[in-house]
Amino acid sequence: MTSDYREIFGAEGPLARVLPGYSFRPEQAAMAKAVARALANREPLLVEAGTGTGKTFAYLVPAMLSGRSAIISTGTRTLQDQLFRRDVPMLAQALGMPLKIALLKGRSNYLCRHRLDLASHQGSLLDGERGAARTLGRVMRWASTTKSGDLAELADLPEQSPLWPSITSTRDNCIGQECRQFSRCHVMEARRAAQAADVVIVNHHLLLADLALKDEGFGDLLPGADAIILDEAHQVPETAAQFFGKSWSARQAELLARDAAAELKAAGVQAPPLSAALEDIGRRIDGLRRTLSGGAPRRDWTQLADAFLDELADLERALGAAAAALEEVGAGAGTANCARRARALASTLAALRGASDEQGVRGVETGAAGFALQFTPFEIAARLRECVQARPCAWVFTSATLAIGADFSHFAARVGLPDARTLCIDSPFDYRNQARIFLPPSMPDPKSPAYGDAFIDACAPLLEAGGGRAFLLYTSYRGLREGVEALRRRFPDPPFPVMVQGEAPREVLLMRFRELGNAVLLATGSFWEGVDVKGEALSIVAIDKLPFASPDDPLLAARLEGIRRRGGNGFTEYQLPQAVLALKQGVGRLIRDFDDFGVIVIADPRVATKSYGRAFLAALPPSPVITDAASGARFLSEHLTKRDPVATAAAGAG
Ligand code: SF4
Repeated sequence: MTSDYREIFGAEGPLARVLPGYSFRPEQAAMAKAVARALANREPLLVEAGTGTGKTFAYLVPAMLSGRSAIISTGTRTLQDQLFRRDVPMLAQALGMPLKIALLKGRSNYLCRHRLDLASHQGSLLDGERGAARTLGRVMRWASTTKSGDLAELADLPEQSPLWPSITSTRDNCIGQECRQFSRCHVMEARRAAQAADVVIVNHHLLLADLALKDEGFGDLLPGADAIILDEAHQVPETAAQFFGKSWSARQAELLARDAAAELKAAGVQAPPLSAALEDIGRRIDGLRRTLSGGAPRRDWTQLADAFLDELADLERALGAAAAALEEVGAGAGTANCARRARALASTLAALRGASDEQGVRGVETGAAGFALQFTPFEIAARLRECVQARPCAWVFTSATLAIGADFSHFAARVGLPDARTLCIDSPFDYRNQARIFLPPSMPDPKSPAYGDAFIDACAPLLEAGGGRAFLLYTSYRGLREGVEALRRRFPDPPFPVMVQGEAPREVLLMRFRELGNAVLLATGSFWEGVDVKGEALSIVAIDKLPFASPDDPLLAARLEGIRRRGGNGFTEYQLPQAVLALKQGVGRLIRDFDDFGVIVIADPRVATKSYGRAFLAALPPSPVITDAASGARFLSEHLTKRDPVATAAAGAG
């Protein structure tokens, strides 16, 4: 097979022969060439590939042609499924290369037969958990027939089920080769399949858990890979911060106490001192829960009461005592494993209690599953760099939003690769003709109470001209709530369906939005990225405010403090580039294909009145900027009429 990428991706090439509706994109071939070079030189590469580049094929083709093994990591399950079920098999066929492909999930997705056995001995222990014993019966029936052990096959078992941690393993509670189920273990089987595969598809959570040797990971997946390609890589720094920190949850300690009791029961051992030590753990956790009750769901360490901190020290001692009692009982591999877990939980607790606030932020989160302590480091760059250097293979980070203009320094610094080779590939879309950027004049200050109504008023002429077909993207839930009210005031009887985030799960809302074809969706958060609506169903993307992260976020406050302490400027070094990248993501929802068209509305007046506004404008696609709604409305009407003159005329008449 040739490695001339213009030929492979060309109109007469193998892809064009097999893939329906294929068209040659020089940008795609250029990216493929750069990825091939990174693979050959085993070096890191950061690639921003604008929407429409076809970046999945641009990294998959050279990875496959290299004949080496590759791990592809994605940020979302949607892309993971698309790669595994569609893109990789399709390309393997087009290139005539039979490949072994594996989709590997974190441990917590696979049934652990040993823990299922334990859970079946736990009858009375599970009684307190609603319906768990009944569900356990169903799981046991499924366990006798499943081949993969992937709990996704049990569609009606929610991930929040209290049974989940009792039938899945972590790195800590897996007893490995001492396990009687080792030879038929689903986790080991999935891992063996991944190790034998040419292309393994994972997600960032699993990859980073593996790098950080955390619970969900396998710890030995990576050494065999020749290339590690991270798609949707803009999410990597945030995900890494979770995994390179420390966490401890009440749930882990409760599960340990329960597992230890079950191991004793299964072994037929009576050990009153151990039982007392395990009960002590439960009592201490209840005490801690009481001291937290009624407070905010997330609290900084400095806001914690002395009573909580004292109780935490007692719990650490109780875990140490339980570990000693378990070691003394010594009733086999199961109790030995519980002893190790008790020691590990005690030492993580000690590390969290003694963590330095100079290096990260500590806090407590309470929720339905109890409470959890978390230490998140300010900087993960050095750790990521160590991980990359420890594995001398090609590391490719790619996404549609990594750079500010052509400058990768913000992202490169966050992942600890300031010297990595970079490449910025422009979108092949014709933004000059496909889109307009509307900056409404005379918008009030974004903090003004009139802002929500002014935003809807600015969008109204476009919504009328487009007959709906819009995403109204808000930067906060408060803004979203006010926006819903403002839209009702402006359109008491709206001539288009109105949908609001939260009315149904995200995927259901998006399916309805596509089907309806003329809906207006008001949303925030997760709708800013990873949403792909092609065609005229989405012809307006309106952004209410520049997406600066909330200053109330304790992690952001701590990060800014970290930058300030080393003499930097948190606004220019962190907040501004983060907001610019977030805006690029939001704006990127509009044009998803060569014949898409539409208007982007950036309502925030700061884009024109503040000096930093230039950074946002420079990051927008090269579409003409307009400041009168009438020309935006005309642009939409003209395109809609061209697309479907009959339907548009009928809609206008109705
Ligand atoms: S080897 Fe580990 S994951 Fe597999 S069944 Fe045994 S304890 Fe569970």
